[in-house]
Amino acid sequence: MPDVLVRVRDLKVYYPLFRGFVQRLLGGGARFVRAVDGISFEVQRGEVFGLVGESGCGKSTAGRSLMGLTPIEEGEIVLEFPSASAKPQFIRPRELKMACVAWWAVSAAYLATATYYGVSGSALFPFGLVATVPGPYVDALGIVGSVQVLLGLALWLLRPWSRRPARLVAGIGAAIAFASLPWGLLLFGVEVGILVYLGTPDPSGLVRRQGLLLPATKFTLTKDGILEGIPRAEQQTWFERWFIGPRTVRTAGFSWVLKQLRGKVQIVYQDPHAALNPALTVGELLRHALQAHAPIAPGGTRASSRLEEVNAKALKLLDDVGLRPPDQFFAKQSTDMSGGQKQRVVIARALAPKPLLLVADEPVAMLDMSIRAKVLELLLDLKEKYGLTYVFITHDLATAKLVCDRIAIMYLGRLVEAGEARRIYADPKHPYTRALLQAIPIPDPSRRTKKELPKGEVPDAVFPPAGCRFHPRCPVALPTCGWEGRDFLDYLEERWIDPSNSDEEAALGPIEDWKSEDLGASRSVRKGDPEVIVARVQAALKEAPKPLAEAVDRVALELDRVVVSFRPPARLEPKEVEGRIVECLLY
Ligand code: SF4
Repeated sequence: MPDVLVRVRDLKVYYPLFRGFVQRLLGGGARFVRAVDGISFEVQRGEVFGLVGESGCGKSTAGRSLMGLTPIEEGEIVLEFPSASAKPQFIRPRELKMACVAWWAVSAAYLATATYYGVSGSALFPFGLVATVPGPYVDALGIVGSVQVLLGLALWLLRPWSRRPARLVAGIGAAIAFASLPWGLLLFGVEVGILVYLGTPDPSGLVRRQGLLLPATKFTLTKDGILEGIPRAEQQTWFERWFIGPRTVRTAGFSWVLKQLRGKVQIVYQDPHAALNPALTVGELLRHALQAHAPIAPGGTRASSRLEEVNAKALKLLDDVGLRPPDQFFAKQSTDMSGGQKQRVVIARALAPKPLLLVADEPVAMLDMSIRAKVLELLLDLKEKYGLTYVFITHDLATAKLVCDRIAIMYLGRLVEAGEARRIYADPKHPYTRALLQAIPIPDPSRRTKKELPKGEVPDAVFPPAGCRFHPRCPVALPTCGWEGRDFLDYLEERWIDPSNSDEEAALGPIEDWKSEDLGASRSVRKGDPEVIVARVQAALKEAPKPLAEAVDRVALELDRVVVSFRPPARLEPKEVEGRIVECLLY
């Protein structure tokens, strides 16, 4: 059994911004909200892995990507599940049915020809060939036609429906047809067509054609969709590898593969009011989930499609999530329930397909304080009972401390610190983690301390800051952390709030005259005295925060512009620091 259930490598998820034609003409190209911008982490089987950060840091987007709910820009997510829980599922593929019908039609024509010749001795061959069939061949035609009908039936009845036996049947049929008579060449051609059809890899619908659906245990989510690894792919014969290639399938959008993935990964949404259809009763909501993910039995019917069976499962789920007596809740409309009860129904619905991984996206954020602890306890109980692994998304470090084994702190699409929750809470290394922990209220006035909280707001994810994204707010930033032109403009704006700097504002401003581009900020000096402006900028920089002032490379006059340029930031890479991964230049 794999110990690592989820591997996320360099994941990027961008949301395109809608921009009108004129905006694009003026502003140059498409723009994206960089919700997740290159994160990597692993989730071990059976653990509670917390994704923690402020609103808008990309934690929910990362969680939704694990289910294939948001398209990936770059990187990959590999989900590997234990194969012991997997049972083969069967479908009767429509295309294979059609292939059998074609087979029977040709075989029947063959038989009919034999019968006709048996009567008349010579005739027009049904496929347009004029022939006179000598007597012994009539029997041969009949035998071949009968065998072909039987082989078509074998193709139809084959259990399990997999390519290998289907190809074997088609191959036998083709060999018989070829060996029988010169006219068998035509039948041979049709059968070779079926053979090729059964053996040709089809990137967009291999699973549909395949017939026997061995449950996937490994899913790789990439920019191109979902690559599914079917178990025992490595045991393919050389012939299969050569003929159909490795057993992976690429799909886009909703498909069998995606459905299989959804059976293994489920989500509990933050807002239970929006997550439940108010027109349905609780029983109907659960029945839908149970029926949609019920395994398909040989013959194509869903194994648990019997209503009593499904209802019994739904009642058991309600009992498991603490909605008792379950039969009373079963008939209720979700609108007649409290927020806590609704969230329990959402949890029950997520458990319906018996998932192995549950993404809990702020599961208690919308609930009253009085029931938060109970729902968290319920989630922990269900984890043991159902053998679940959680990706627990929250902005609340106090909640994460209660439930998570390991946590990853996210800031503006990046992971800044990740490791064992116990260690991080005891000794946070990243300045942002420290700030978040300091922000947890302590219900004891005697333990009040001075807090060093990050200044300002979270920057715009469309234009994230250069270098370390936390640098404009970081209380311990270094000159190499990524200072750039817009930081200088922000500094001037903040400085000019003070009325005592009004003459400086008059000499340098207004701020709209300044332009920032990457590592530089500049303004035209056509209307002012360049020497005075340069001197004023230098004077302002002397009073600037040390890291910003030290990051300035030069203040110079270039043609008719005063330019303030900054040094390029130092390379920022995640490093291992005392048993956790930290992305900060302090280490
Ligand atoms: S790299 Fe570290 S020190 Fe520099 S701004 Fe980021 S968090 Fe602060």
